Parts: sequence; structure tokens; C-alpha cells
Amino acid sequence: MSDHSTRRSPWLTEDLDLLRELARSFLAREVAPNLWRWGEQGHVDRDLWTRAGAAGLLCLSIPEEYGGGGGTFAHEAVLIEEQARIGDSAFGTSVHSGIVAHYVNAHGTEEQKRRWLPGLASGELVGAIAMTEPGAGSDLRGISTRAVRDGADYRLTGAKTFISNGSQADLVIVVARTGGAPDAPELSLLVVETREAEGFSRGRVLDKVGLKGQDTAELFFDEVRVPSAHLLGGRPGQGFAQLMDQLPQERLIIAVSSVAAMEHALALTVEHVKQRTAFGRELMAFQNTRFTLAECATEAAVARSFVDDCVLRHLRGELDATGAAMAKWWASDRLCRVVDECVQLFGGYGYMTEYPIARAWTDARVQRIYGGTNEIMKEIIARSL
Ligand SMILES: Cc1cc2nc3c(=O)[nH]c(=O)nc-3n(C[C@H](O)[C@H](O)[C@H](O)COP(=O)(O)OP(=O)(O)OC[C@H]3O[C@@H](n4cnc5c(N)ncnc54)[C@H](O)[C@@H]3O)c2cc1C
Repeated sequence: MSDHSTRRSPWLTEDLDLLRELARSFLAREVAPNLWRWGEQGHVDRDLWTRAGAAGLLCLSIPEEYGGGGGTFAHEAVLIEEQARIGDSAFGTSVHSGIVAHYVNAHGTEEQKRRWLPGLASGELVGAIAMTEPGAGSDLRGISTRAVRDGADYRLTGAKTFISNGSQADLVIVVARTGGAPDAPELSLLVVETREAEGFSRGRVLDKVGLKGQDTAELFFDEVRVPSAHLLGGRPGQGFAQLMDQLPQERLIIAVSSVAAMEHALALTVEHVKQRTAFGRELMAFQNTRFTLAECATEAAVARSFVDDCVLRHLRGELDATGAAMAKWWASDRLCRVVDECVQLFGGYGYMTEYPIARAWTDARVQRIYGGTNEIMKEIIARSL
């Protein structure tokens, strides 16, 4: 392969190369052999979390004093890339480590960090974040889940849907109204410890077209008592600012995984077209195949350059909401185009679920939807113009 497809990301270091080796051997041993089974059951085995924690692969960018790996976003990116390299869309580590733990780390009080981060790092606690509701997705002002102060507690009532890690989560960060007007709610983030929460229940694991092994569930809160000490950051009304602060990293995670998934799809396809023949020639010998793959390789290389630059900016603390929105929509959009072209080059085999390219295709589609839809990303970008 050319310089472009083997180009080393400028944010990589020797330390990250070692992490990549560790992640690769862990995923080959603990994840790859189980992906099909997890796809059928709709979630990973619960002990995968503690195994990953014991291997030091959870909360890679959380400070060591709270049990984390003491790394940076680059450490999270390496793990995300390695998951994409084996087509792992089951293990929800990036929501758990890259999103949930970071809400606690960035906005939790000292007591809250000590209470939750070590368990998230060991895998004893599985984390989820619950924003979306049946009646409110893109528009957070439409959230109707409500937390009402009652003595030393809040009483939390509402329903959330499409929640990643939902059926296994022990710790759910719930976005709720704690006051304000109907069209201008005061939002707060409440951390619900699900094991002890009376009035908390889970719906079924939702049946999705892709991400078959990833647990996505509905969650219900019926007058659940949440101690006021579990209000993230300790003060009500901070929810919107906390979300705005953390959403860029969530979007960059989707961009990083989109680029890696594009490269994975391309590698699968190059291998296929070099061994399959039609009309007495390798598929790779047809000009259409060659041109299509040339375009896909270019799309992947351009996306990687841009997303690498966004990773560097994020590592310097300079990636803003606009830059993250650009990375998210661009990379996920290109992923869907590239993987669709790849499916075409597989012919009928590309439509068979037992072929990894077919799963890559169904897994890709959601990248344009979650983490804020690509239309919402364009709204964010347009506002900056
Ligand atoms: C597999 C999966 C996992 C998920 N995980 C989580 C999770 O862990 N936690 C969580 O909270 N949520 C999660 N979600 C929810 C996800 O973030 C939402 O589905 C997404 O934000 C869109 O919300 P919605 O589904 O309500 O669509 P809607 O908001 O109803 O949008 C429908 C369409 O209208 C468009 N639209 C809406 N507003 C505008 C506008 N202003 N301008 C232009 N177009 C607009 C949208 O772009 C979209 O095309 C997950 C979803 C999926 C599918």
C-alpha cells in the first residue's frame, strides 16, 4: 500500500504503539472470537468489562489517582482504531470511557470522582449516558424527564430511549429538568446508581439493523430517589453547559471510529477483489474496480488527515464545537459512501451478514445519526459562519 494508507498519524508516540499492541492482543483474544455470539444475544458478556479493566484498557485517559490510565485522548483513539480494525461494534467502551467517565472527571466534585471513577476504570461499574427520550432527540429543550427536589434527594421521573450500554449500566448519567420554563428548561445531570435505585427499570434490548452486539436499551425512571449529592457538579442548572463542554469529544470519537472503519472496509475489499475472478480476470483488473477503490482510498486518506488534525487540536485543548461537528459529519458521511461502494464490489456476498463487509455497512449507518445527527452538525457549523 502507498504512503497515504500507511501514513503514521502525527499524534502517535512509542507509548501509544505499546498500547496498540496490548489492545490488539486483548481484542484478538477476548473480543474477536465472540463477536458473532454477542451479535445474536444483543450485548457483550458482562465479564468483558472487568477483563478489560484488569488489562488496563478502560478509562485510559482518566487520571491515575482515580484508577484510570493517566493517558490522553490519543490513548482512547488507539483503542477505538483497534476495535474498528477487527470490526468490533459490540463493546461500548468509547461511551463508557471516552464519554461517561469524562463527564464525571470534568464536572464531578472531588467526592463524586472518588466514588465513581475507580469502579468505571475497573469495569465493576458500566457507564451510560441518557439524554434521548421518545419525544426528544435532537432538541434537548424538549426533554421531559424531571427531577424534583424532595428533602435531601431528588425524585426522578421519565423515560429514555436508545441508550448505549443501557441494559448493563450500573451508573447512568441522566439529563433531566430541574426547573425553568417549558421551552427554556433548566437542565441538570443526575448520576443514578442503578443497582440500588427503586423505581428504575429497563426495557428490552432494542433490535437494531446494525451494531448487533451493542446493547442499546430503553430506561424508565418512576419516582427514583437520587441523593442530591449525586447531582453532577453539586449545583443544579449546570446540565446544558456540561453537555456543551463534553459533546465535542463524543463527536471526535465518532469521527475517529469512522476513519478507522473506512480503512477497515477498504482493506477487506482490496483483499476480496484480488482473489475473486469474473470473465477470466481478477475483479481488481477491471477499470471500474480500480477507479472506485482509488476514490475510496483518497476519501479515506483525506478524512484521516483532517481527523488527525482535529485529534491534535483536541490534545492541545483547541478543538471547538464547530471543528468537532465538521469532523463528525464529514467522516461519518464519507464512511457511508465508501462502505457502500465496497459492498458493491463484493457483489451478492456484500449483502450476506456473515461477510464482515455487510456488517461494516449496517454498522456505519448510525454514525450519521447518533452523537447529534449530521444535520444538527451542519447547524452548529453554520452558526459559526
Ligand atoms: C444505536 C444508537 C445508540 C444511541 N446511543 C445513545 C446514548 O447512549 N445516549 C443518548 O442519549 N442517545 C443515544 N442515541 C440517540 C441519538 O443520539 C438520537 O437518535 C439522535 O440524536 C437523533 O434524535 P432522534 O432519534 O430523536 O431524531 P429526531 O431529533 O427526531 O430527528 C429526526 C430527523 O430530523 C432532523 N432534524 C431534527 N432537528 C433538525 C433541525 N433543527 N434542522 C434540520 N434537521 C433536523 C434530524 O437530523 C433527523 O434527520 C442513540 C441512537 C442510536 C440509534
